[in-house]
Formats: sequence, C-alpha cells, structure tokens
Amino acid sequence: MPAKIAEEWLNACSGCEIAIVDMGERLLDIVSKVEFVHIPVLLDHKYYGQLGDGKHINIPEADVGIISGGIRNEEHLEVAHEMRSKCKVLIALGTCATHGGIPALANSYQTGEILGRYYSTEATDPPAHWPNEGIPPILDACYALDEKIKIDIYLPGCPPHPDHVYSALAALLEGRGPELPGKSVCDTCPTIRQGKGQLKTLRRFLQAPHYGAPDEPLDKMRCLLEQGLLCMGPVTRAGCGGDKITPRCISARVPCRGCSGPVKHDGNQLLDMLNALASNQIDINSLPEHSSLLRFSGSHQLLRPKQRERKA
Ligand code: SF4
Ligand code: SF4
Ligand code: SF4
Repeated sequence: MPAKIAEEWLNACSGCEIAIVDMGERLLDIVSKVEFVHIPVLLDHKYYGQLGDGKHINIPEADVGIISGGIRNEEHLEVAHEMRSKCKVLIALGTCATHGGIPALANSYQTGEILGRYYSTEATDPPAHWPNEGIPPILDACYALDEKIKIDIYLPGCPPHPDHVYSALAALLEGRGPELPGKSVCDTCPTIRQGKGQLKTLRRFLQAPHYGAPDEPLDKMRCLLEQGLLCMGPVTRAGCGGDKITPRCISARVPCRGCSGPVKHDGNQLLDMLNALASNQIDINSLPEHSSLLRFSGSHQLLRPKQRERKA
C-alpha cells in the first residue's frame, strides 16, 4: 500500500515546493510509492468541508507530513496543529519551517511597527487602515514550527537541495531516518585559507571578491571571509550543494548568507558568527552595515516582543 503524504505551506514562499518538483525524474520514483492525500500547492482542498460548513480545519490522515514555512498567524497555527494530529511523522521543510527563515527577520520589530510600515507610510497612497476583516489575526511574532508543535525531522535550507529532499523521502519510505550533514559550509568549501588574523575589518557585502579569470577553479580563489567579505560558512550547516557538495553561493563566488541554519539544529548561528569574527581578530565594530545580512541566522534568535519588553 502506498505511503500517504500530506504537504502544507504556511508562512512560505513556495520555493520549498519548487525544491520538491526539482527532484526531477526522481519524483516519479517517489510518486510511484506514495499517495498525496493533501497538497494545496497542487490540489485544491476544502479545509472546512465541500460546503464550507465544518467548524474546524480538517486534513486527511497521513503517514508522513511535510510543512514548509513558519507560523505567523492563527490560521497557520491551526493548520500546524491539525497536521501534527493527523501525521505520524512530521518533517519541517526549509529554513522558514526549521528556524523562521527570512520572514522571522520581522521579529526585530513590534507587530504595530510592521503594519504601520506597510499601510501608513508616505509610500502608501492614501494611507490605509490595517486590515482586520476576513483574514486570520497575526501572531505577536513569526515562529519556527517547533516553537509551537513537535517536529520529527528537520530539512533546513532555503530551499533545501532537491538531493536532500529526495534522500529524506527515500529513507523514510525504506523505514530509515534521514541523515543531515554534520559539517559546516567551510568544511565543504574548496577555497584557499591562509590563516587567521590577517584581516581587521570587513568590506561592503556587494563588493566583488578577488579572483583570477572567470573560469578559474574555486580552489584557486582565496576564502571570501579572508578577503573581508562576511561569509557565514563557518557557522552554517553544509549540504546546500546537494550530492555535488560544493556550496551553492561559493560556486558563484558569493559569500554564504547562512541559509541552511546552524551546524547543530539548536546552535546560535548569530553568536557563533560573532565569535568566529572575533577569533579571526576582525573588528566587529565594522559589522553594523552588514548586520541585516545576517538574515537567516539571526531570525530564530531575534528577541521575541515579550522578551524585548522584559529587557526594556
Ligand atoms: S525556506 Fe526559503 S524557499 Fe523555503 S519557504 Fe522559506 S523562503 Fe521560501
Ligand atoms: S568562510 Fe566562506 S569562503 Fe571561506 S572557507 Fe568558509 S565558506 Fe569558504
Ligand atoms: S552557500 Fe550558504 S547561503 Fe548559499 S545556499 Fe549554501 S548555505 Fe545557503
């Protein structure tokens, strides 16, 4: 009997669903062994019954549940609880689901500040009222899934590499647990490292790195962090290159922005990066203009509104 799979997207951009499709022909292998009982990105589903007369969200039971995106409003929260109650194994797919991701950068601000920014700034003509009818109430912060429900398997990445999505689903179908790389992006990076302490300040993020000809192999280019570009490789989980291994951004000679989250799930990528900079004797006072680039890493660890109130 095929395994039943339910997939949901909450506070998500659909990039993680594209990663599922990007498995390519391997998707046919998976699809022949599973039955998608719920996947709103592909199949319409009436959460409250065909006539809309149900009182609660209803999702079919499944052997494996996959959720992309974090939890930002009460509808997300209700769907997340329903998925948890109906799925035997629940996978958090992508960094929004595992750590909050880009949307959780909003946790730097109070909800009122965010709504004001969107609906009442000089760029809004005419200034609008904050919407409050027919839409789910917003929560006080953007939450990673495991801040609200129990998660069994984490597949970080923005989006996760299709190789890892395939490996995880194939492992589950064989009754095994998927394995995530336990290394950092630096551990899989071929660039040249000459040693610490030669750099004191960071350069602007958008400045081009130094390298020879465009077709020069990566193992001839000096480490981007040692070139003064804020590269989060030391504190970010490896694996974004999939089975080909070389980190994706580094392949394009762009610094890592930390999208796969910390090397250990509960690590603090932001603090670890500050430590890495300090241990490289880089002046962290040169950091502020780069701090917004710590977008993936900082999101899960940004202070929640209640914590900020306590702090104040
Ligand atoms: S992890 Fe990235 S690709 Fe996936 S939903 Fe979030 S922003 Fe989109
Ligand atoms: S800091 Fe960046 S460029 Fe340097 S080794 Fe690590 S991943 Fe590669
Ligand atoms: S190099 Fe870093 S930011 Fe780029 S895809 Fe890999 S983990 Fe994400």
